Amino acid sequence: MSDVSVPNDVTLMEKVVNLSKRRGFVFPSAEIYGGFRSTYDYGPIGVQLLRNVKDAWWRSMVQMRDDVVGLDAAILSPPAIWEASGHLKNFTDPLVDCRQCRERFREDQLEDLTICPGCGGKDTFTEARNFNLMFKTHAGPVESDAAVAYLRPETAQGMFINFSNVLQSSRKKPPFGIAQIGKSFRNEITPGNFVFRTREFEQMELEFFVPPEEALQWYEYWCVTRYQWYIDLGIPESKLRMRPHDADELSHYSSGTSDVEFLFPWGWGELEGIANRGDYDLTQHATHSGEKLDYFDQATNSRYVPHVIEPAAGATRTMMAFLLAAYDEEEVRGETRTVLRLHPRLAPYKVAVLPLSKKDDLMPMAREVLGLLQPHLMCDFDETQAIGRRYRRQDELGTPFCVTIDFDSLEDQSVTIRERDTMEQVRVPVADLLAHLLPRLV
Ligand code: ATP
Repeated sequence: MSDVSVPNDVTLMEKVVNLSKRRGFVFPSAEIYGGFRSTYDYGPIGVQLLRNVKDAWWRSMVQMRDDVVGLDAAILSPPAIWEASGHLKNFTDPLVDCRQCRERFREDQLEDLTICPGCGGKDTFTEARNFNLMFKTHAGPVESDAAVAYLRPETAQGMFINFSNVLQSSRKKPPFGIAQIGKSFRNEITPGNFVFRTREFEQMELEFFVPPEEALQWYEYWCVTRYQWYIDLGIPESKLRMRPHDADELSHYSSGTSDVEFLFPWGWGELEGIANRGDYDLTQHATHSGEKLDYFDQATNSRYVPHVIEPAAGATRTMMAFLLAAYDEEEVRGETRTVLRLHPRLAPYKVAVLPLSKKDDLMPMAREVLGLLQPHLMCDFDETQAIGRRYRRQDELGTPFCVTIDFDSLEDQSVTIRERDTMEQVRVPVADLLAHLLPRLV
């Protein structure tokens, strides 16, 4: 995960974590009860940003294509699914205990296998044992073995078990995909680095089913397409890389996996994995369920099990990458201006409507402008404090445009638009406001 050659940019991390709390992006969960380790709540601004990340993914993966359909499968699931997928047996991390301080660590993340990072003890670790990352619970009032259920650790299996349902109801044929966004749960041994690794998180996954002979070509297509998605939404190329897995990293069924990685303050970390999974998943579920999970191609009069290309991304982790990449500070007239240079499509608010003064005279027109914009754009409305401070606040939220209503506005029916990145201001008639803003926000 980490690349030690990269300088440890702790201050950027601290700044983004502080901004997140101060401005309502992300709060530590259960704070009034002393917190609950590595769980987070998304505040009024964060919930918008996260939603926009997911919407941008859905737009490019579902809305803009005619070969992908959506799905929202259940989170609670029976053991049979995880038996067939291999998760019950293999979804484990190697766990070691320190005999001295009793802390537990992932063996593969320890820098030195002989020194405990918790207490500094030497040779205090137990032998590694496999720790299953799935959250187990019981469905219904009886806590018997027959009632065991799991919280899904990935959304992918929902697509495989619904392969036939979707195929029949949507009338798609390979190559076609099923996309899903939703929560997943993993009992991570060492969560951390803010929302990079949490036990409850959101994923955005596509299972793309293809004729076997087209698998390699589609794998390459999705590697290029997914990399470009991050670039198009403003991650600089210097902070993004595609890393093909070495042969010894590949799962036994995968004939190729590449990770899209972002340069986090502590080094390179995965945002998304794109895997060429062969026919492993459909075959496993067909064998375990006794249902046929294949495709009959009328054109060639033959039946085959489609191969699967899976681009699997994390929504919450990706949101954090967009925040880190967008964070900027600059000197403006002797003061430091903090600005989130988020892509307009990701910005939590697109426009802030700001009456210059709180005086009654400006309010009706300011409310009118707000009412004009709200059906089309997510807007903030702020009438408190000096205008300069209100601009700074919107800069920190990443709002691309502020619209100010002043006393001249009452006379000339025009408003001032101030742009976030350049701080340039233009005067625009209210009648032209939407036409001016909309093309600049796509
Ligand atoms: P890692 O190696 O970081 O544990 P992974 O390879 O197990 O990740 P996948 O199973 O490929 O991850 O999941 C797809 C994506 O889901 C990851 O690229 C990541 O963005 C996201 N993800 C996985 N685990 C977590 C987590 N604990 N917290 C937040 N996001 C996660």
